[in-house]
Amino acid sequence: TYSWMQQRAWVEIDLGAVEHNVRQLKKLLAPQTQLMAVVKADAYGHGAVTIAKVALSSGASWLGVATVPEGIQLREAGITAPILLLGAAQTFEQIHAIANWQLQPTLCSPRQALVFSDTLEAINYNSSLPVHIKLDTGMSRLGTNWQESGEFVKLVTRLPRLRIASIYSHLATADSPDPTIMNLQHERFEAAIAQIKASGITIPSLHFANSAGTLVSKKLHYDMVRVGLAIYGHYPAEHLHNVNLKPVLQVKARVTQVKTIEAGTGVSYGYKYIASRDMRIAVVGIGYADGIPRNLSNKMQVIIRGQRIPQIGAITMDQIMLDISSIPDIQENEIVTILGKDQNEQITADDWANELNTISWEILCSFKHRLPRVAV
Ligand code: PLP
Repeated sequence: TYSWMQQRAWVEIDLGAVEHNVRQLKKLLAPQTQLMAVVKADAYGHGAVTIAKVALSSGASWLGVATVPEGIQLREAGITAPILLLGAAQTFEQIHAIANWQLQPTLCSPRQALVFSDTLEAINYNSSLPVHIKLDTGMSRLGTNWQESGEFVKLVTRLPRLRIASIYSHLATADSPDPTIMNLQHERFEAAIAQIKASGITIPSLHFANSAGTLVSKKLHYDMVRVGLAIYGHYPAEHLHNVNLKPVLQVKARVTQVKTIEAGTGVSYGYKYIASRDMRIAVVGIGYADGIPRNLSNKMQVIIRGQRIPQIGAITMDQIMLDISSIPDIQENEIVTILGKDQNEQITADDWANELNTISWEILCSFKHRLPRVAV
């Protein structure tokens, strides 16, 4: 195996930034409100085990994953904190693994509750599994319709192998400056809870907020917030900068070759860039197979020696080219900041997302495992 120093490109993970972000977010919460670090999708591409451990030691007390294997990966790394499976599970193998590895499932429908109950009985599970009831208050994704939540919850309380650990819902538009839909979801959540409580059922815990919800209003915090994006140091929206966050991830690569090309020479596949003059260029060892979106061809910039440098021509699978006319003495093996900060220049996931008409969440999740994650 090669160390990252021998690599042509890598992702740097700033553990101090994770700690900083978690502590800043905790300061927004009431002392008894818990913070769940959402570490699904390999912690949004940052490396789930590393991020989970730092988040837990910095004040998070729960972890959120999307799939059963993501939960098992954390358990195999020795993590004992409670893990909520945010996605739906329903096969025999999934339920068996949930029980075995002490993961806590989300139940989205009466049918799923019965499948869990029957399966736990079949495997002679001799305790009651903590489960989390998901209500759909307007996201139209997982969950029982909020108007039917009373009956759903009653059904689960009658199943001896299941124990309700929390009731939750998910916001669809908390990052929008227009609060109308968020407020409607909030009213529905409150109405559903009131109905459940009226039937004499005690609810151990309620949670509702993602990063945006956490930043928007304390009224959405309840007993726990489920934070993903903000832990990684990114803001869910322009108008939600009411906490100081530091980006955790940086992408770096090395210059592999420098050369001069003549005026009129085409660069890269399809000659999408033609040199307008004799030009000094650099080749950098990172490409779309590492997760740089090819649609950034001829549009992205990188940073070398604290200066922005334009990328030219089509982005290829493993390599990109740069116009280094502004720093013609750039050397082979120099380090290039693809995403991140170098002196006074910074290129963020939001910059890429804006250019590509997508969201920073998707940019963060796009870096491939070919890039080693290096804790700094
Ligand atoms: N809760 C649920 C159910 C989610 O699916 C997610 C992620 O999409 C989150 C919380 C965290 O969201 P964010 O990254 O916006 O904080």
